[in-house]
Amino acid sequence: MSRLYFDYAASTPLDPRVKEAMDQAAMTAGNPSSLHASGRMLREKIDRARQSVAELLDVDETEVIFTSGATESNVAALDGIVRAARASRPEKRLRIAAGAIEHSSVSATLAQLREYGIAIDNVPVDADGRVSPEDIAKAITPDTIIVCVMWANNVLGSIQPIAEIGGVVAAARAKRGPKDPPLLFVCDAVQAMSTQPVLPRQHGIDALSLSAHKMYGPKGVGALYLKRGTPFAPLITGGGQESGRRSGTENVAGIVGLGRAADLLLVERETDRERTAALRAGLVRELRAISGLEVFGDDGRQLPGTVFVSGRENGDVMAMKFDVAGMAVSAGSACDAGSRKNSSALAALPDRKFFEKGGIRISFGRFTTEQEIRTLAAQTKKLVRQ
Ligand code: PMP
Repeated sequence: MSRLYFDYAASTPLDPRVKEAMDQAAMTAGNPSSLHASGRMLREKIDRARQSVAELLDVDETEVIFTSGATESNVAALDGIVRAARASRPEKRLRIAAGAIEHSSVSATLAQLREYGIAIDNVPVDADGRVSPEDIAKAITPDTIIVCVMWANNVLGSIQPIAEIGGVVAAARAKRGPKDPPLLFVCDAVQAMSTQPVLPRQHGIDALSLSAHKMYGPKGVGALYLKRGTPFAPLITGGGQESGRRSGTENVAGIVGLGRAADLLLVERETDRERTAALRAGLVRELRAISGLEVFGDDGRQLPGTVFVSGRENGDVMAMKFDVAGMAVSAGSACDAGSRKNSSALAALPDRKFFEKGGIRISFGRFTTEQEIRTLAAQTKKLVRQ
C-alpha cells in the first residue's frame, strides 16, 4: 500500500517547482559576497528571493533577514530585542507577555531569558486554544517590552486574534512616553503562512518568523521580518551578511527555494486555502460521526489544513496504528507531558479532556487529494474501533 502523508504541520512536501529553482542555484559555484561574476550572480538570486518574501509579506526588502529556519528567527527576535533593550536600560526590570501555547523555540527561549532576569508573564488560552486580547491588555505593564503571540498553533491549529492583539499593543504603545521602553509585538507565523494572508504591517507586528519547510520549501531555511528601526542586537555575528543582522555565508539554494515558495504562495495561496478548507470540512464531518472520537475546536477559526482529534487511546498508540496502516500523522500525547513538544499546548487548555487522552494531529494541504481524505476517514473508522 502506498503511504499517505498527513503531517503537513510538521513539514510540507517540497513543491517540485521549488526544487527546480533550488537545483539551479545549488549548481552555481561561488560565494555571494565575492565581487566576481559568479558571486554577483548568487547575490542577485538572494536579492530576488528577498523581493519575493517582502512582496508576500507586503513589507520592505530591507526588513527581511534570511535565517536557518523559524527556530533561529524566533530566538533571534526575542533575544535580539531583549539585549538591545537591556543595553539602553540596564537598570530597568524588563518583562515579556507571551501566549501559553507558543512553540518550544519561543517557550524555551523565554525560559532562558527568565534565568537572565527577564520576567515572563504567561497569558492563558481558552478552551479553543486561543489567547484573549483582553488578557494580553491586562498582562502589559510599563516594564513590558515584548508581547509574543503566535499567528496559529502548530498542534491545535487554533488561529489567534492577531488583529485584535495588534490593536491592544498599539493602544498600550500610544500611552508610553519618550522615557519608557518600547513595546514590540513579536509573532511566530510559521503555521499560518501556507493558507493565511500574513501581513505584519497591518497588525503592528515588529518581528515575525516564518519557515520555508511549512510553505512547500526546503528545510533549514527561514526568514525574520524585522520592522525598520526596531532595536535589535544580532544573535549571530561575524562577516556582517544580511546587513549585519545575521552573519554567515548564505544558504543560497535554500534562500532561492524560499523565494520560489513565496512566489507560488502569492499566486496560489487563496486557491490552496479554499481547497484545503473544503477537504477539512468533509473530513471533520466524517470524523465527528465516529463514536469515541472527539474533534478539537469547532468555532470556525482553525487552520484549514489542521485537525486535532482525541480518541479512546492515547495519542502515541493512535499515531502508531495510523503509521502501520500506511498513514503519517503526529501524536499529541498526554502520557509524557512536558517531555514532548506536542503536549504543552494540550496541557495549557483549561478543558482537561484533550490533555488527558492526548490525540493525533492530522494535517494536509496543497497536494492532498479528496481521495486521500476519503481513505483517511475510512481507515480512521476502522482504526478507532480496533
Ligand atoms: N514555530 C512553529 C509554530 C513551528 O511549527 C515550527 C516548526 N515545527 C517552528 C516554529 C520551528 O521552525 P523550524 O523547523 O524552521 O526551525
